[in-house]
Amino acid sequence: MKAGFIGLGAMGAPMARNVAKGHYLASVWNRTEASAITLSQELNVQCAASPALLASHVDVVLICVSADADVLDVVHGILPALRPQTVVIDMSTVSSDTAREAARLVGSKGADFLDAPVTGGVEGAKNGTLAIMVGGKPETLEKVMPVLETMGSRIVHMGDVGTGQAAKAVNQIMAAGINEAVAEALAFGAALGLDMRKVIDVVSGGAAGNWFLEKRGPTMTQGIFKPGFKLALHHKDLKICKGIADKLGLKLPVTEMAVNDYAKLIAEGHGEEDISALYRLKRPSS
Ligand code: NAP
Repeated sequence: MKAGFIGLGAMGAPMARNVAKGHYLASVWNRTEASAITLSQELNVQCAASPALLASHVDVVLICVSADADVLDVVHGILPALRPQTVVIDMSTVSSDTAREAARLVGSKGADFLDAPVTGGVEGAKNGTLAIMVGGKPETLEKVMPVLETMGSRIVHMGDVGTGQAAKAVNQIMAAGINEAVAEALAFGAALGLDMRKVIDVVSGGAAGNWFLEKRGPTMTQGIFKPGFKLALHHKDLKICKGIADKLGLKLPVTEMAVNDYAKLIAEGHGEEDISALYRLKRPSS
C-alpha cells in the first residue's frame, strides 16, 4: 500500500515521518513548496508537483490542512486524478458537514473517504501516539489500518462519515475548558508568589493532573507560547462546536468563554501563538 501526504505543517510533517518509518510513504505535497522539498529529501520520497499528481499514483491520500475550505480545496484538487479504490483520509479538524461533502466528492470518482481527525498534540504526532477518531465504512478503515497505526496508538471507529469529526468536537470543547482552568489556576498560583515549577510538578501527580498542564504549564508560566496548537485553529474548531450547539439548542458557556477570549487574543495579534497564550489574559499584571 502506497500513501501520499498533503499538508506538512506542525502536525502533518511529523505524521508523514511516521508513515515513512512504516514504509508506506511514497509522496508528499505542501502548498508552500519549500516544506515539501525539504521533507521529501529527508525521507527520500517523491515531492509531487501537485495534489492531483500525488493522488494519481498512491492508494491512500492523507490530508492534514487547516480548515474546512482548505480541505475542500485539496479534495477538488485531487479529484481529476482520483482512481476508484483509492482511499482519501482527512485528518484535519473540520465540521462533519465538510467531511460529508468531501466524501460525496470523493465518492463521485468511486473512491472511498474517511474522516480521521486526531488528538495528542505535536508531541503525539511526533511519537506516533495520536488518538484517531474515524468516520466511514468499517471495511475501508480495516484496509488502511496499517497506515493509521504508524501515526496513532488509539484508533476508534465512531460510525458513518462525519462521526469522527463529531467526536473531535467533543474533544475540542474539553480542551477549551482545560485551557481555561489551567491558565486561570496557574495565574492564581503565580499571583500568590508560589514556585510554579514545583506547583506544576506536584499538581500533575494528583487528581487535577492533565496532559495540557504537564506539556504547556511550564512554558506558559514563563511567557513562552510557541505552537503547539495555534490559537486561531482552536478558535475555528470552537466556532464549529458552537454552530452545532446552536442548531441543537444546547448551551456551551465554557466554550463561549474560550471563543471570546481567543477572539480578543487574535485581535491583539496572538492567533499564531499556542492556545496556552490564553495565559496572557489571566496572568497577574506586572
Ligand atoms: P499548521 O502548522 O498551520 O499547518 C497547516 C497546513 O495546512 C500547512 O501545511 C499549510 O500549508 C496547509 N494548508 C492550509 N491551507 C491550505 C490550502 N488551502 N491548501 C493546501 N494546503 C493548505 O497547522 P497544524 O497545527 O499542522 O494543524 C493542521 C490540522 O490539524 C488543523 O485542522 C488543526 O486543527 C488540526 N490539529 C492540530 C493539532 C495541533 O496540536 N497543532 C492537534 C490536532 C489537530 P502552508 O505550509 O503552505 O501554510
